[in-house]
Amino acid sequence: MIVTIDGPAGAGKSTVARRLAKRLSFEILDTGAMYRAVTWAALEANINPADANAVSRLTDGLEIQLANERVLVNGRDVSREVREPRVTAEVSSVADHPAVRQQMVELQRRIAATGNFVCEGRDQGTVAFPNAQVKIFLTASVRQRSLRRWQELCDAGFPELLEDIERQQTERDRRDEIRPVGALRRSSDAIDFDTDHLTINEVVAELEKIVRRQMTNDNHE
Ligand code: C5P
Repeated sequence: MIVTIDGPAGAGKSTVARRLAKRLSFEILDTGAMYRAVTWAALEANINPADANAVSRLTDGLEIQLANERVLVNGRDVSREVREPRVTAEVSSVADHPAVRQQMVELQRRIAATGNFVCEGRDQGTVAFPNAQVKIFLTASVRQRSLRRWQELCDAGFPELLEDIERQQTERDRRDEIRPVGALRRSSDAIDFDTDHLTINEVVAELEKIVRRQMTNDNHE
């Protein structure tokens, strides 16, 4: 079974996806981490993240593995590196390239075919898994999302000014929404949750109910 969770940065997707997957004993697929892994590899190789051909060629030679919430690129654990601000600043540019998106979506489908997954990202319900049994769209106000990202970065040891984060986040959201392929978009059959007005626990509890109901329905079909 596939559950997709899409939405802008800082809406609470990662936390919700992680907790929901745990409650359901599902695996989790953090697709943002995949684009981050490619971006990190491009920066390491001195490749311009905006160079579509070069980034796509580089991606062909990468083995990206996600296991136990770690990110491995060609066997090297880069879980911390992919969260660095220099990666965050360039990741939308890498995620703009249609060829790279196709490579990532193929990888996502191969991984998700191996079990029950909560897939988290921007295009999971629209492009990667249009037939997912449960689709969720998580949102929150820019201010709330920036505050969360700021806290996350402080916790990870990358303190930044809240105003800078808000500006960067607004810009990244804009890029994520306007890209021609794989743009951040609510699938027409997705269920909306606004996490400004609901706690993460409330969202997770509600989602668990929805997924379990769907699992029961599937078993009876
Ligand atoms: O979720 P996270 O902030 O780690 O995602 C990093 C970036 O990767 C996003 O800003 C977006 O540009 C890109 N992304 C994407 N499609 C996905 C997941 C992430 O384009 N499914």
